[in-house]
Amino acid sequence: ASTRYASLRDLPAEALCGTRIELYMNAGLMADLPSLKGSGAEGVGLFRTELQFLTRTRVPRRTELAGLYSRVIDNALGRPVVFRTLDIGSDKVLPYMKPQDEPNPAMGWRAIRVGLDKRGVLGMQLQALIRAAVDRPLQVMFPFVADPTEFVAARAMLMSYLEREAAMGRPLPTDVRVGAMIETPSIAFAPRSFFEACDFVSIGGNDLKQFFFAADRENERVRRRYDTMNTSFLSLIEQIISRCADAGTQLSFCGEDAGRPVEAVTLAALGIRRLSMRPASIGPVKNVIRQIDLAAVRTAMDLARERGEPSLRPAVTGVLNEALR
Ligand code: PEP
Ligand code: MG
Repeated sequence: ASTRYASLRDLPAEALCGTRIELYMNAGLMADLPSLKGSGAEGVGLFRTELQFLTRTRVPRRTELAGLYSRVIDNALGRPVVFRTLDIGSDKVLPYMKPQDEPNPAMGWRAIRVGLDKRGVLGMQLQALIRAAVDRPLQVMFPFVADPTEFVAARAMLMSYLEREAAMGRPLPTDVRVGAMIETPSIAFAPRSFFEACDFVSIGGNDLKQFFFAADRENERVRRRYDTMNTSFLSLIEQIISRCADAGTQLSFCGEDAGRPVEAVTLAALGIRRLSMRPASIGPVKNVIRQIDLAAVRTAMDLARERGEPSLRPAVTGVLNEALR
C-alpha cells in the first residue's frame, strides 16, 4: 500500500475546492519516527507517552525520558511534535503502581486525574519535556480533561517548572504551546474561556465516542455498534468546531476515525483542518481528499440532515462513490 501512494507523498492534501487539510501522524515509539518521512506527514499530532512507562519495572528517570523525548524531536525533521502527557491508570496498570480495584476503569482514576493527584510523576514528565525541547518549540497536550479546572491546574504546573528553570538560569524551549484533548462530552460544552485558555485542542474520538454513546471501546459486543457517522455524534463534533472557531483555538482530530477515508472527508467537510492518524492511513486519506469537493460533501450532508437521516454515512459515501468512479 505504501508504494501505491508513494507518488502522493510530497503533494498536499488539497481538495478539489482548494481547501487544504493538514495530515499529521500518531506515534508512541522512537521507531515510529522514520514514518514521518515515508508517509509525508506534516508532523506528529499525537505522541502517546505511555509505552515508555509500561515497559519498565520502575518509573523511568527524568534524564532517561528527557533523552528519549529529545531524540524524538531530533528525528522529527524539524516538523512539530505534540507530546501527550501520560494517559495511564485503571486498565493500563503500571507494574510499579498499586493496582486500583475499580469497577469502571475507563471512567476511573486515569490520565490527568492521576497526574493531578500524584504530581510527582506528571511533574517529572513535564520537566523531562522542558529539558528535551531546550532551544526548540515544545507542544504539550493533556489527556482526558473533563473539566476546565483540570486544564488550568495542569497548565499551571508546566508554567511553574518553566519559571523554575528560568530562575535557575537554565535555557528554555523557544516557544511553549499547551493543549487539551477533547475526550469527554462535558469538555465539548465547556465555556469559551476554556477554549481561549488552550493554545490548541485535539478531539480524541476513540474516547469521545465511547462516552457519548455509553459504549465501551474495549467491549466486542458493543464497540462497533454505534457509528461515527451518526447524526448526533457529528452534531457534537460541530459543536466543538464552532466553539474553537469562536475562541480562535486551533483544532485537530486524532482518534482512529481520522485515518478512515469516509470519516476523514466528513470531518474535513464539517470544518476540521488537521487530522492525525497512523502513518499507513495518510496515503489513502490524502488520495480521497484530493479527489473530492468538500462543499459537495457538505451539501449532501446538510440535505440528509434536513431529511432527518439518523446517519450521514449513505450521503457521504454516495458523493465519494460518484467522485472516485
Ligand atoms: C482517543 O481517545 O481518541 C485518543 C486518541 O487517545 P487514546 O486512543 O490513546 O485513548
Ligand atoms: Mg483517549
